[in-house]
Amino acid sequence: MNANLKLLSESYSERFVLSVIVPMFNEHEVLPQCLERLDAVIKELNITTELIFVDDGSDDGSAEYLLAQASSSACIRIVRLSRNFGKESALTAGLDHANGAAVIILDADLQDPPELIPEMIKQWQSGVDVVLMQRRSRAGESWLKRNTAHLFYRLLQRTSNLKIPVDVGDFRLMSRRAVDALKLLPERNRFMKGLFAWVGMPTVVLKYDREPRAAGTTKWGYLSLMQLALEGIMSFSTSPLRWVMLLGVLAAFFGGSFGLLIIIKAIVFGDAVHGYPSLIAVITFLGGVQLLSIGIVGEYVGKTYIESKQRPNYLVRDVTKIPEVRKAEASGIAKTEAFYVKAS
Ligand code: UDP
Ligand code: MG
Repeated sequence: MNANLKLLSESYSERFVLSVIVPMFNEHEVLPQCLERLDAVIKELNITTELIFVDDGSDDGSAEYLLAQASSSACIRIVRLSRNFGKESALTAGLDHANGAAVIILDADLQDPPELIPEMIKQWQSGVDVVLMQRRSRAGESWLKRNTAHLFYRLLQRTSNLKIPVDVGDFRLMSRRAVDALKLLPERNRFMKGLFAWVGMPTVVLKYDREPRAAGTTKWGYLSLMQLALEGIMSFSTSPLRWVMLLGVLAAFFGGSFGLLIIIKAIVFGDAVHGYPSLIAVITFLGGVQLLSIGIVGEYVGKTYIESKQRPNYLVRDVTKIPEVRKAEASGIAKTEAFYVKAS
């Protein structure tokens, strides 16, 4: 058997102390740097680590690049999804494939510095289940993005009954217990930050400065960020429905008062009713309120529809292993389904 490889039996899952999940979508440019920095940190840590790259339908050769890399001190696994499912689904896939006793989620673009991993591990070892990484600052992001993000986190906290921490993204450590709890949540509309918060468990918050993207470009346009924001608010709260009801009450109140005013004016002052402009104003206002209300109710109905279809959150194309493993498999030393780790 290849000296570099150690066959692991069913106890595979107990072999890894740490799983690092990296969702990636067309991140070819940043991967060399990402691997290098992760590798340096993992070497220092000296605990058995698996790096799970979830390839979210990249078409720039990201997965192929990783496959060619065997120099890492960690076991690299690539979970290739059948197409681009979005970051939330990619994270779910990563969590489903992680075996570690602790799981860390990290963006491929190095905005979440891997050098913070040892500190996160230290906190976990002191007994907490969740280590949240809170952004003290966001470098390299536009004024508009920083401020809309700021607004979004506050709005989310206002609307939801859950305490979703502000300025905390997906960068975090979770214990096996927390990950297993998270896996119990089967919903299709997956707003991960909310789901993480729903799980709860003993938590500490560490602050860090978010770095600019190391290379490549962001995969989130303003439209998709807006969708994510709506998703976040609607998946964790029905308060927009209540706002709509309040709006209806207010509109009815103003409409009623206005009508009363016109009647009084006509009776007391004998004012002829010259109603055309006011009529148009009232009709368009009420029309707007009604459409808005139907839209919001419709969003919730749509979400129910999506949930009712019970489609899986993602489909896996294949789970790829490091080249030595593939070589071993090709030479018949190993079976495809067995798991290997590169002995250090
Ligand atoms: N990502 C993904 N699927 C997508 C979009 C993004 O897996 O559909 C990954 C991306 O490769 C990166 C992380 O999610 O590792 C964060 O994305 P990005 O840096 O583009 O977002 P930003 O940091 O600008 O919010
Ligand atoms: Mg980024």
